[in-house]
Amino acid sequence: MKVINVVGARPNFMKVAPLHRAFSRFPEIHSIVVHTGQHSDACMSDVFLEQLKMPPPDYLLRLSAASATCQFSEIMTGFEKILQKEKPDLVLVAGDVNSTLACALAASKADIPVAHVEAGLRSGDRSMPEEINRILTDALSAHLFVTEPSAVQNLLLENVPMQKIHLVGNVMIDSLIGITGSWCPESATNISEQSRYILWTMHRPSNVDTEVMLTKMLAMITHLARRWTVLFPVHPRTMKNLCTFGLADQLCSIRNVQVLPPQGYMEFLKLMTGAMVVVTDSGGVQEETTFLQIPCITLRESTERPVTVERGSNLLLYPFDEKRIEDNIAAIQQGLWKKGSIPEYWDGRTAERIVSILKAQYLNL
Ligand code: UDP
Repeated sequence: MKVINVVGARPNFMKVAPLHRAFSRFPEIHSIVVHTGQHSDACMSDVFLEQLKMPPPDYLLRLSAASATCQFSEIMTGFEKILQKEKPDLVLVAGDVNSTLACALAASKADIPVAHVEAGLRSGDRSMPEEINRILTDALSAHLFVTEPSAVQNLLLENVPMQKIHLVGNVMIDSLIGITGSWCPESATNISEQSRYILWTMHRPSNVDTEVMLTKMLAMITHLARRWTVLFPVHPRTMKNLCTFGLADQLCSIRNVQVLPPQGYMEFLKLMTGAMVVVTDSGGVQEETTFLQIPCITLRESTERPVTVERGSNLLLYPFDEKRIEDNIAAIQQGLWKKGSIPEYWDGRTAERIVSILKAQYLNL
């Protein structure tokens, strides 16, 4: 059985690494990794391959694309050639980035079944590019591997047959458990006097693509930095927009704010476990803070990962302003925050479950 695993952007590496490893344990499975080049900077790509101990990808596409549409067409054209050469039995895509949908679509045009890992998540907000990628990828997929019960319900509401849906847990947590080794949630929850910093990450278009929203974000950070230290690893998209609107210098000059480049996975997890609170709009970070039981404030109107709010340590803050965020962080400092619990199957064995379901299907094993 030959499987092509697709990676393209930062959050894909954590999801695909444990799957490629799990596939590779079986001599009857040939597991290939295709990197679409959607994120190609060393700090958004190479560092993750290295830290997650992934071999160099079997194929790396080179993209010149300026717009999302060009990116789709370049990925699909490049990926189609790989499909023609490799003739895989299955294409596995993860998450909700453009590479996920582009490769799912190219595979489905070539009549090759698609497995979608992290299927069924829905924010209900179609203005999010990721939501469109999620809906279309699921519609094209033969195997839908889901992380939380809400995703099963979403897929059933879209008339996906139950036999295609598998609640298997969260492969991202496989990577987290693998890399942190001896770390356990309990050891990560202590908020000591020394670790009273806010870890800030922000890159969703709705938060960083306009001058109005970036100015609002700077006002909040400036306000919070009067009371607490803020660590801010800045996503390239956010930095590009800060520069475009002439706001980068303003951010760098705020006292008590450390502006950092995008962090390696290990470095970021360490920053996360030492934080008093993580303020984010990232999907993966909402899940990782839930697993680590670290307070998380998500600056978004909706989340496609409701289990992180219902069971985990996440709070959606919307609308948000200086006062609301300060009040919430003050509550966290006083210990008035839910620790939450870890969702079912987020146990480090999700890749194993996925591979065993696919083996049964394709190899009758
Ligand atoms: N992450 C990282 N370095 C950073 C910020 C995030 O390694 O500076 C990791 C984070 O721990 C998580 C993943 O990147 O595993 C989330 O990626 P991102 O926020 O880019 O995408 P999303 O999850 O929102 O799709």
